[in-house]
Amino acid sequence: MKTYGNYFNGEWVDAVNGGTFPTINPFNGESLAHVALGLEEDVDLAVKAARTAFDKGEWSGMDPRDRAAYFFKLEQLIADESMELAEAETMDTGMLIRLTSGMVVPMLGVFCKRFAEMAEYLVNPESRAQADFPALYWDYIVREPLGVIGCIVPWNFPLFLACWKIFPAMIAGNCVVLKPSSHAPLSLIHLARLIDKLGLPKGVFNLVNGPGSKTGDALVLNPSVNKISMTGSSAIGKDIMAKASIDLKRITLELGGKNPALVLDDANLEMTADGILYGGLLHQGQVCMSGSRIYVPKTLYSDLNELLIERAKTLVLGDPLDIDTDQGPLINDRRRQTVMNYIQQGIDEGATLLLGGKIPEDETLKNGFFLQPTLFGDATQQMVISREEIFGPVIALIPYESEKEAVQMANDTCYGLNAGIWSGDVERANQLARQLQAGTVFINDWHTLNPEYPFGGYKQSGLGREGGLEGFYEFTQSKTVHINFKQTRDDSHWFKILLGNAD
Ligand code: NAD
Repeated sequence: MKTYGNYFNGEWVDAVNGGTFPTINPFNGESLAHVALGLEEDVDLAVKAARTAFDKGEWSGMDPRDRAAYFFKLEQLIADESMELAEAETMDTGMLIRLTSGMVVPMLGVFCKRFAEMAEYLVNPESRAQADFPALYWDYIVREPLGVIGCIVPWNFPLFLACWKIFPAMIAGNCVVLKPSSHAPLSLIHLARLIDKLGLPKGVFNLVNGPGSKTGDALVLNPSVNKISMTGSSAIGKDIMAKASIDLKRITLELGGKNPALVLDDANLEMTADGILYGGLLHQGQVCMSGSRIYVPKTLYSDLNELLIERAKTLVLGDPLDIDTDQGPLINDRRRQTVMNYIQQGIDEGATLLLGGKIPEDETLKNGFFLQPTLFGDATQQMVISREEIFGPVIALIPYESEKEAVQMANDTCYGLNAGIWSGDVERANQLARQLQAGTVFINDWHTLNPEYPFGGYKQSGLGREGGLEGFYEFTQSKTVHINFKQTRDDSHWFKILLGNAD
């Protein structure tokens, strides 16, 4: 079985204490590889490599277009090894190969290229018109890198979520230390091998593997790290925010969601049913953007229920590497148990179990962490299944009387990652989108990300934005430079303010 190291200073290395941990294929429970277990000493070495590289100034002082050139090359390497990357992510996370090869890896390439193109924004200083400012003064803005960025990502979409951090961070001139989730490090180790081929200056990119409670914690507490960019649960995000405040590290947090979908009474039911299943069950519902609470007008309620059950019944559970599989396994048995506890709570609180809710009995699935896609009807706003992020294949349908009531319930949450509207009238849905408290609102769609636009959460779904120019600038700090072109003290405004008209 293969053993993978950490990557510091352009070298693959074992953990300082020689420890490793296994990574497990959730389809069959078998170990896929062993990975170096990075602890505090390893994190120190990774950060030291990044700090030294940054302080040298070779990378941060390079023309941004020259930095970008490395990433145009990386886009090609990603394309060349797209199937290997997709298979690594599928085997480590249980995500369908249809999704990794059809969406995740192609998007990785698109984002790599787009962030590289954004280097242009750093080339020339930004100047803003100042009509009422005398011509002999000039102000301009330069955007400079922050230094060392600690990038912490979850297991559910390792490649995609890491690329929103490490690509813009490095292109903006920072040096990075990436910590993947210990539940699914393999696709990022593969990406690191491609990055190694670029020949970046040593220490610009570093990777350290290990669990959040030790490896992640050491990264957050390391005083040489200038910013933590983390994607994960809101609970861990709050812990990181508290620890980052010790030395006022910059932070970007992309956190959990309990995302509502509003079905309007003019919705096309066939399309809406498919859209709800896509929004709620993609990657077995283990997506921060999953639409897991669906507000349905009472007039459409029974028709939509019927359609959803009929369609959800056709979903095929199986090996995620098989192109015909619709639902793969959950990431591990612990997550499956957590989801099953939520299902039991839904039943106990009086929701109607319309479909699923059990571990499938099929012999071919028995070693994997499978769970049937689950639909609850007659849920209410107060139930735990309508309020907490389940992060599994569970959708709750909540009937409503009026649109106003539906909007109130949709916004009645501590989260605000995304929301969606299903309607036959785009203009009506567009008006409603403004009333929803969420960083992204989908109209008749779900799970789409446009590289030009920012993504992030309202309320406890996060801080800051990723993607788009906003996401790119999160890895820079602005410096305003003010120039007084006059070479004598006469007529300088500060001189008059301080000394009046005295000679
Ligand atoms: P998690 O919070 O348990 O872990 C996320 C990352 O943080 C992992 O790398 C983990 O090792 C690390 N970590 C854990 N404890 C840490 C600590 N004390 N200090 C530093 N790092 C620590 O989340 P998860 O279970 O891996 O992922 C699922 C969660 O991620 C869900 O809540 C989901 O909504 C959220 N998520 C959010 C987005 C988004 O863009 N908003 C995207 C994907 C997933």
